[in-house]
Amino acid sequence: MEQTYIMIKPDAVQRGLMGEIISRVEKRGLKIAAMRLGVMSEESAKEHYKEHAERPFFASLIEYVTSGPSVSMVVEGKNSIAIMRAVNGATNPVDALPGTIRGDLAIETGRNVVHASDSTESAQREIAIHFKDSDIVNYSKIDEVCLYE
Ligand code: ADP
Repeated sequence: MEQTYIMIKPDAVQRGLMGEIISRVEKRGLKIAAMRLGVMSEESAKEHYKEHAERPFFASLIEYVTSGPSVSMVVEGKNSIAIMRAVNGATNPVDALPGTIRGDLAIETGRNVVHASDSTESAQREIAIHFKDSDIVNYSKIDEVCLYE
């Protein structure tokens, strides 16, 4: 089963959207294999977003994601990376379709409430930044017999 890294960003935690976002992940049929609330360190944030290090918004992005508690998750399921990118919607909420998390719950790119890994390589890299192997729980859920052919 494929794993992806999901972050509920600090703006979403402050706005009381944790339950709403976690609920959308669960209802879609994906399984939460690890989850933690905490304030991301500047070091982890810079490593996480290192591909954007030269972009003009980098400093404000690091300030934003370290500004308060966020929720880190490992989410698991068949095609979980592509599914969670679609569930989150476009990076700029203006372009995010209604029905997506950003399309329903956000207004600006710099406050777009969620993160999801964009490829297998980023998922592996991001999970390793935020979790130890022993944090990830291997378990079965009863709904798997209904979700998968
Ligand atoms: P995504 O989060 O959809 O994978 P990117 O990897 O392109 O998008 O960008 C990472 C994050 O950086 C975005 O989610 C957003 O919080 C922030 N960001 C990207 N582009 C901008 C921008 N032009 N202005 C402000 N913040 C931005």
